[in-house]
Amino acid sequence: MTRQATRPPLKQTQFGLVNTYLVPEEDGFTLIDAGLPGLQNRILAVMRPTGRPLRRLALTHAHSDHIGSVDALKKALPDLEVLVGMNDVELLAENGVKVTPDRLLRAGNSVGSLRVLDTPGHSPGHLAFFDERDGTLYAGDTFVNIPRLRVASVSNIIFPFPTLATHDAAQTTISARLLLDIPAKFLALGHGRVVADPLNAMRRAVELAEKEEA
Ligand SMILES: [Zn+2]
Repeated sequence: MTRQATRPPLKQTQFGLVNTYLVPEEDGFTLIDAGLPGLQNRILAVMRPTGRPLRRLALTHAHSDHIGSVDALKKALPDLEVLVGMNDVELLAENGVKVTPDRLLRAGNSVGSLRVLDTPGHSPGHLAFFDERDGTLYAGDTFVNIPRLRVASVSNIIFPFPTLATHDAAQTTISARLLLDIPAKFLALGHGRVVADPLNAMRRAVELAEKEEA
């Protein structure tokens, strides 16, 4: 296994706003989140020259901007394992995904090299994934980095959608604070740039969210 402590995560961004990530594993790749419709063509094009398969699709949560290509990817890759938080499985179906997930995730599970963390709030079954190999914390929409890092529960005039879509704001902030205990070297989110050495910025964002709620 190669250790690449300073390698930023492999990101695919649609329309400059919606991120997904490819996590290399010995047996192929794991895709974190499935973006908007049409992402499958981009992912398949990135996969092809590597000669390695896309094995798993792990969803941070089942909102429509993170699941748009689930069905198309599964259709193109019938062996793809589709994984979602156990408390988001109903939302996944409500939001129109036809595929039945292969495995329902909760804290303590693993997805390849990724450790599954429960981070409910933005959605009932929202998850984060931590890659101990390179220190990347894939935190979905618990934090948003447009235009700067903040917890998704905090109002954001420039990019309001994650806040408006948040299921439980107070619980989102609680989950964001729990992520401060993860020794993250990179913070990779559903929206905005990857943050290197993110812990101080995450702490400031959590404190702002807690102040706003007090
Ligand atoms: Zn989102």
